[in-house]
Amino acid sequence: MASNQKVRVRFAPSPTGYLHVGGARTALYNFLYAKHFAGDFILRIEDTDLERSTEESMRMQIADLKWLGLQWDEGPNPETLQDMGPYGPYRQSQRKAIYQEHADRLVNSGRAYYDFRDDAELEKIKEAAVAAGKPLGPPDKIVPAAEAKARIASGEKAAIRFRNQIDESKVRDFVLHDLVRGDVTFPSDMVGDFVCIRSNGMPVYNFCCTIDDALMKITHVFRAEEHLSNTLRQMMLFEAFGYEMPRFGHLSFILGPDRQKLSKRHGATSCHDYKEKGYLPEALNNFILLSGWSSPKGQEIISREEQIEQFTHERFNPAPAVFDDAKLEWMNSVYLRALPHDELWRRVEPFLKRAGLEIPMAEDSAWRDQALSVFKTKMTTLADAETLFLPLADSKFAIAADGEEVFAWPEAGRVWKAWKEELVKFPGERISETEFNAIQDRVKVVADAKGKQLFQPIRVAVIGQPHGTELKILVPLLPKSSLIRRVDICLARG
Ligand code: GLU
Repeated sequence: MASNQKVRVRFAPSPTGYLHVGGARTALYNFLYAKHFAGDFILRIEDTDLERSTEESMRMQIADLKWLGLQWDEGPNPETLQDMGPYGPYRQSQRKAIYQEHADRLVNSGRAYYDFRDDAELEKIKEAAVAAGKPLGPPDKIVPAAEAKARIASGEKAAIRFRNQIDESKVRDFVLHDLVRGDVTFPSDMVGDFVCIRSNGMPVYNFCCTIDDALMKITHVFRAEEHLSNTLRQMMLFEAFGYEMPRFGHLSFILGPDRQKLSKRHGATSCHDYKEKGYLPEALNNFILLSGWSSPKGQEIISREEQIEQFTHERFNPAPAVFDDAKLEWMNSVYLRALPHDELWRRVEPFLKRAGLEIPMAEDSAWRDQALSVFKTKMTTLADAETLFLPLADSKFAIAADGEEVFAWPEAGRVWKAWKEELVKFPGERISETEFNAIQDRVKVVADAKGKQLFQPIRVAVIGQPHGTELKILVPLLPKSSLIRRVDICLARG
């Protein structure tokens, strides 16, 4: 790559499900690399596997990338899905003519041929080749292109296969100068003649990827280690077309805590799962950033601006990264606590809605401030708000099974009566912690109850159960009207 060339990187997901954290990491690294070098970040949809790719998956992955804040400069427009940028189409399923034209080019130059051998025949030939320790070669007689086209026009099926070793005696080494792994050497006979276009007309991944990286003027490819072995075929294709090859960097694997490759077995693995569990995109980004890369300043919590400033390939770690849920939780709580309350509330609200919690006091920003100040220190994820705010929703107030016991206590009725009287005569709408303590002291005297016999009935009259968040936190967050409604329920039953 010439030094004055603009950096162009891409993320090229196959739309076959939600965005996996591994894919999100690849996207993030490419995004940061582009931004660091003031380059372009391209989203290319690799949807030539018709059986597994779906439009729905593409939309979901686009939504996940948006959620992570990884905006691309070229690719499908995130809203309309229309192409955005000069190198489209950005969906491989719409580039078939380009691949066919490239395949024709290789056939015409003798670097590819039409292969009419059927699966059964190829199976046998491959077996024999393996036994002889040789890669798969061409058939004894290669059908000339014009004749092949005529046969196909009359209904025969043929794949287009890349001719790897024109001269079988010349096995050569392809050396990849990998930006993460250093030099990797592939002998050319590691692969045989490989398919570029299947007999059903669909081009294969290695073929499309090479052509697109070349035509989209991609300068660097950072992608998962599992693609390392594909690179040999891609190098051969770059060479055969005479296209300049991008620089490659193959990222380390991400392993689960058991050091096996991270998979669904390990629980949440898609960004969507983490979103639903209440993780913040900033925290997930920061966490996956450090799963295979480290800050030159040794930072753990790194803002997006600092990420962009610090991100170069020198800090990639080729050793596998182990996914540490506890660290992600910690990181999430750090980000969560640092959010301004208005923003935190905006993020918490959908979770409260999901749990069916209606909290009318939340209209008041001073109330929100007070509630979030106490609850955020108890939150690891946004979803924790569902349990923390639950006692504040009137519609969810109910006497729990372990709250039943107090109804049999002789003191309970006296405590509730005195507690209600205090509430009714309380001049304001909200009771502070100090005021609550004073009220409790007076109830103690009036109802002649102390210890458990005093506290448990009050707890049941506030939250319906003897356990849970401390009342000195909850009472100041509940309007007097709610407290009266709740104690009335106990009095009516008691
Ligand atoms: N479509 C491939 C994948 O989803 C991308 C491979 C590449 O980046 O070259 O794994």
